[in-house]
Amino acid sequence: MIESYIKSGKLASKIRDEASKMIKEGTLVIDLVEYVESEILKTGAQIAFPCNVSLNEVAAHYTSPANDQTVIHAGDMVKLDLGAMIDGYIADTAVTVIAEGNVSENYTQDEINLHEEIVEASAAGLEAAIATVRAGIEVSKIGAAVHEAISEYHLNPIFNLAGHSLEQNNLHAGISIPNYDNHDNYVLDEGQAIAIEPFATNGEGIVNDAPGQYIFSYMANKPFRMKTTQKVLKYIQHNHAYVPFSGRWITSEFGERKGNIALKQLSEAMAIYPYAPLREKQDCFVSQKEHTVIVEKEGCTVTTI
Ligand code: MN
Ligand code: MN
Repeated sequence: MIESYIKSGKLASKIRDEASKMIKEGTLVIDLVEYVESEILKTGAQIAFPCNVSLNEVAAHYTSPANDQTVIHAGDMVKLDLGAMIDGYIADTAVTVIAEGNVSENYTQDEINLHEEIVEASAAGLEAAIATVRAGIEVSKIGAAVHEAISEYHLNPIFNLAGHSLEQNNLHAGISIPNYDNHDNYVLDEGQAIAIEPFATNGEGIVNDAPGQYIFSYMANKPFRMKTTQKVLKYIQHNHAYVPFSGRWITSEFGERKGNIALKQLSEAMAIYPYAPLREKQDCFVSQKEHTVIVEKEGCTVTTI
C-alpha cells in the first residue's frame, strides 16, 4: 500500500514538473490537460481525476471540454492540479505557475507583484501545514497553520475549500483538512493518506459555483428511456465508477452532441454528480499548492515532492 502511494506520488510529481514548463503565453489549456492525462496513462498508472487547469479567479474544477479554445496569456495565474493512481492508491498534487511571456502587456507591475505574493502565500501555507502533520494532530491545527502562514502575506485562504483524506479508489474519503481553524478536532492516525491543499487570494476567500460543468462523478444506477443515455451510464459504471471523470472523455467516446445530452440527463437524474468550476466571490485571483502526505508517528512522508 505505502509502496503504491510512493510510486504514484513520484510519477505525479514528475509529470507535474514537466507539464509546468508548458505554462506560457499561447499554450492551449486542452494541450496541457491532454499532455498530463496521456503521460499518466503511458506509465501504466491510472488517472485519479481529470487534469484541472484553472485560470486566475477560478480556483478549481475546470478541465477542457472537447475542442476547448481557452488559451493561456502571459501573466495568467495557472493552477495545474493532477492525480495519478496505482492499484487505487492516489497521488493528488497541484502547483500554481504565473504564465511566462510578455507579462507587462497584460498586467501592471503592481498586479504582477501581488500575483507573485499570492502564489508564494499558498506555498507557505502548504509548507506550514506539512510541518504540523504527525499522528495525533487535530486537523483544525493544520488549518490554523495554513491560515496563519497566508495571513502573513495579508491575504486570505479560501475558507470553503479543503484538503481531504485518501483511501483506495477514493479521492475524497470523508475527512476534510481545512485551510483555517474550523474547530474540527478529528485526530489523524499513523498511516493515513491525506491531500493538503491551501488556496490563497487577495479576495474574501470564498468560492462560488460558476457556469459550465466539465467534471463528473458516478453516483447511482437509474433507469433511462433514451438508449444513448443508458449506454453512457453503463460505460461510466464500467470505467469511472470510483473516481471523477471528464465530460471530454464521454464526448470523445459517444460524440459531442449525444455525449452532452446524456451527461445532462444523467446529472438531472442524479445518476452522476456534476462539479461546477469554482470562482472567487469577488473575482480576485487565487493560487493553490497541494501535496499528498502519509501521516507518521513523528511527522509525515510527502509522496508528491
Ligand atoms: Mn488536487
Ligand atoms: Mn485534492
